[in-house]
Amino acid sequence: MPLVSSTPMLQAARAGGYGIGAFNVHTLEMLQAVVEAAEETNSPLILQTTVGTVKHLGEDYIAAAARAAASRSRVPIALHLDHCTDFELIIRCIRAGYTSVMIDASMHPFDDNVRRTRKVAEIAAAAGVNVEAELGKVGGVEDDIVVAEHEALMADPDECARFVELTGVPTLAPAIGTAHGIYKGEPRIDFERIAAIAARVAVPLVLHGGSGIPEAQVKRCVSLGMAKMNIATEIRIIFSDAIKRVFAEHPDENDPRKYMVPAKQAVKAAAIGKMAMLGCIGRAPELR
Ligand SMILES: [Zn+2]
Repeated sequence: MPLVSSTPMLQAARAGGYGIGAFNVHTLEMLQAVVEAAEETNSPLILQTTVGTVKHLGEDYIAAAARAAASRSRVPIALHLDHCTDFELIIRCIRAGYTSVMIDASMHPFDDNVRRTRKVAEIAAAAGVNVEAELGKVGGVEDDIVVAEHEALMADPDECARFVELTGVPTLAPAIGTAHGIYKGEPRIDFERIAAIAARVAVPLVLHGGSGIPEAQVKRCVSLGMAKMNIATEIRIIFSDAIKRVFAEHPDENDPRKYMVPAKQAVKAAAIGKMAMLGCIGRAPELR
């Protein structure tokens, strides 16, 4: 299959009461690991890269690798650009073949966020590409975007409804208490807020900061309307730790395949765990 827009798969997920994993990948092996996880479990998949990874690898290389994965695959695969503030880069990624983009103008006042988001939403709609926008502020660190935890502002349900109506975005990431990175304690998720937003907004909702959220909380978020969960930090750590273990035992190892294979296997196993948690296993056939 070609890469697909994530809009239909996320709409199906919200309607079906399950979630889809969006995995941030930084290397070819990480990309292959989550694709294999999706293949083996018949799960729909969203591959995701940060702006930093686009700058590191190039949107053309990333899109080519994702296209190769999708063309071999029986499961629907989307390629998403995470947290982008740069309009030009969004357009470049769409032209390279990304099938989903996030315009993050959440640091701007409401009206400005609406204006910037609507502009991207119109272009993306014409290109058949999904768009995700953020309202409120997700705490923590993602690439070079830093939001102090005390400054993290949660999304207002009425504003969410107005925002979706004014912008026409097909997916919304409302800040509801999760944070990027690894949680120090338990995340303090505002479930009532998710329910209030879902009651006012029909589009699929996106849960940012999915690394390390306990299973029961993930399931509750999904049951309330969170159709996409972003997983970044957790698989990055798992990938790196597996490589460190190889070098701890074999400090002289110099064949990249020898340390990449265990790292890939570790990410694959973790991805399957997240897919099971989200309930998307076995959902790919109904999306064909
Ligand atoms: Zn995020």
